[in-house]
Amino acid sequence: MYIVDAHEDIAWNVLVLGRDVRRSALETRHLEEGTGIPQLNGLCMVGLPEWLAGGVATVFGTIFAAPARRGSPELHTYTTSEEAHALGQAQLDFYNRLADECDQVALIRTCADLDNVLTSWESETPQVGIILLMEGADPIREPAEADRWFEQGVRLVGLSWATGSCYAGGNAVPGRLTDAGRELLAVMADLGLILDVSHLAEESFFEAVDRFEGWIVATHANPRARVPGPRQLSDEMIRRLVERDGVIGIVPFNRFLQPGWVKGNAKSAVTVADVAAAVDHVCQVVGDAAHVGLGSDFDGGFGAESAPAELDTVADLACIGPALGELGYGDEDIAAVLGGNWLRLLRAALPE
Ligand SMILES: [Zn+2]
Repeated sequence: MYIVDAHEDIAWNVLVLGRDVRRSALETRHLEEGTGIPQLNGLCMVGLPEWLAGGVATVFGTIFAAPARRGSPELHTYTTSEEAHALGQAQLDFYNRLADECDQVALIRTCADLDNVLTSWESETPQVGIILLMEGADPIREPAEADRWFEQGVRLVGLSWATGSCYAGGNAVPGRLTDAGRELLAVMADLGLILDVSHLAEESFFEAVDRFEGWIVATHANPRARVPGPRQLSDEMIRRLVERDGVIGIVPFNRFLQPGWVKGNAKSAVTVADVAAAVDHVCQVVGDAAHVGLGSDFDGGFGAESAPAELDTVADLACIGPALGELGYGDEDIAAVLGGNWLRLLRAALPE
């Protein structure tokens, strides 16, 4: 069984916080004692040793920068599309460097790359495969530039982050698709870029799903039926995604799993049973276990203090399996949720 994690802000953690992802998350945590980093981004959960120990074979690694109104310049924020572009390129360069310098990491651009990564887990030297996901499309300065990003290995694009973009409204700053957003969707479909609808404002979501002719996913979003709010997916949105054979990545983040949970509340107040319940909700709405997976977003604004009790690092994602078993899910469905569903979608959507 392979675990696939559809959302980790790997480059942001390295370039902005100075974390070395090749290091154990626990060592990083130790090195950061007494610094401001745990307060800013939580107790570190992601590191290469934990990926390998936890059987995390494939990760969607983001290219992510926030608009300046949401943070200070040292957090790599942007005000212009040129700045967004430069930050995105720097993150892309980081992923290439990581794969070049580290034998245990490979970038996945094609089905053949994916197969090579999975096969490596049958050997003594498993590799973690990273698929590049642009979270918020502002680094694409104009729609026609999407093909350059595709050539450089980006395989998924979310039109906006929370605060919206020049292409679409976001969950915190709602709005419709812009003309440039509509144009970008057409270019993306032609290229075979996968659309990530996490963070899209609802009005942008429905228009994008209607218009876009390619594969559609939500790499990190939970059911709104369990935790209300525009950041999560309504049952109608879940149905629309699954009509298109999309996959939804459940986020094991306490605030997205239990209404009213806020930073500072007990980690132990939420457990993997709550993650399983969110997975189960999607399965109940759509009538199968073939369209839900994991998108941890670990170290994407929160850390171990804000993850369910059993999850200390990314190595623990497999603990979600037994919680699904408690709900009556069999081994095959559990393997599908922990990785198989994402792998099916990637095999269909990636170039050969
Ligand atoms: Zn996000």
